Amino acid sequence: MLLWLKDVPSFNIDSIESDQEICDFVDSIVTCSTDNLSDNLVKMQTHHHSHTCYKGRKNSQCRFNIPYYPMRCTTILRPLPEDFPGQQRKKYEKILELVKQQLTDKDTMKMSYKILLHTLNIHQDEYLLAIRTSLSKPQLYLRRDPKDILISPYCKKIIDLMRSNINIQFVLDAFGAATYIIDYINKSNRGMSQILKEVLQQIREGKDSLRKGLTKISNTFYNNSELSIQEACYNILQIPLSKSSEECVFIPTFPMAERVRLVKSQNKLEELDEDSTEIFESGLIEHYANRPDSLKHESLAEFAANFTYSSVHTKTSLPLKNNSGYVTRRSKSRVIRYRNYHYEIDPQNYLRENLMLFMPWTNEINDILDKDMEQLFASHSHTINEKKII
Ligand SMILES: [Zn+2]
Repeated sequence: MLLWLKDVPSFNIDSIESDQEICDFVDSIVTCSTDNLSDNLVKMQTHHHSHTCYKGRKNSQCRFNIPYYPMRCTTILRPLPEDFPGQQRKKYEKILELVKQQLTDKDTMKMSYKILLHTLNIHQDEYLLAIRTSLSKPQLYLRRDPKDILISPYCKKIIDLMRSNINIQFVLDAFGAATYIIDYINKSNRGMSQILKEVLQQIREGKDSLRKGLTKISNTFYNNSELSIQEACYNILQIPLSKSSEECVFIPTFPMAERVRLVKSQNKLEELDEDSTEIFESGLIEHYANRPDSLKHESLAEFAANFTYSSVHTKTSLPLKNNSGYVTRRSKSRVIRYRNYHYEIDPQNYLRENLMLFMPWTNEINDILDKDMEQLFASHSHTINEKKII
């Protein structure tokens, strides 16, 4: 679950002035204290080391860095400055080793923060410097008693609603948040690129057609993707994974030569006259050009939003010209999407796209492309702007 929080204080790496504000904010939402948590939820929030904690690690330290460090109050710690004396750094690294060792001792969880430092025979300043030796970027540490060193951070409101294990972290830099989300999304596809590379190699060596090769790639991807049980059920039962109350239609407003079109099936191609060049299936643009005279004042944008194409005739449908099918007026308009060129970047295509979408036309070449588009746009700018708003 990704939650977006409003009015969050922002972190300034170069100044510690914002630190307190952030810590207060975090304290108001996140905690790791078990003081007011039911036994059941304490159990859920307690980290138990498993084989994933040590995956790919030579040492026997948990890769989630648990036990967490106890902290007197919520604090942001920064890495040590680059000019920090090497000798000193080594000293604090050693202290950190001792701290880590102490945290694995069962008795530590019975201590108070003060007693813990006393047992380690260090001051709070030294303790913080020791932790800072392990940092490569600033990190926020929650106020934490030694008894809670295995508790993952949680939000009281959310845990009462979810009643499941949660682990909340306040991320100080946007880059960190983006990496975390991307890694998480791709978690189940790890190792996939290697499998696909192998298939690609097989295809290159084999004599399969391009079509067969692509099918092989899509099958490999599909068969090797890890799915949640819910997604697998939806797939088997052919239930759509997403639903939308609004329908959407994409209008291919690219220049003619760049438009992707579907070639007619072999049967249809064989039926064509020998010298025919009509090898493509007609799409939205062709249907628009073939619209009946009763719709001649409709722009392409309106046509796309308000009409549905069908190859068969129904009671309410209108025939398209050249026997190219039928259209029916929709009871609810669709949302239109298009390339959306910008005047500052590509003025020619901006003019062409706007004329194509918002000025009624019948023949794209004669009515738009062969004309002086700037002049045409100027004389129709009123209609275009009016239609654009709708
Ligand atoms: Zn662990």
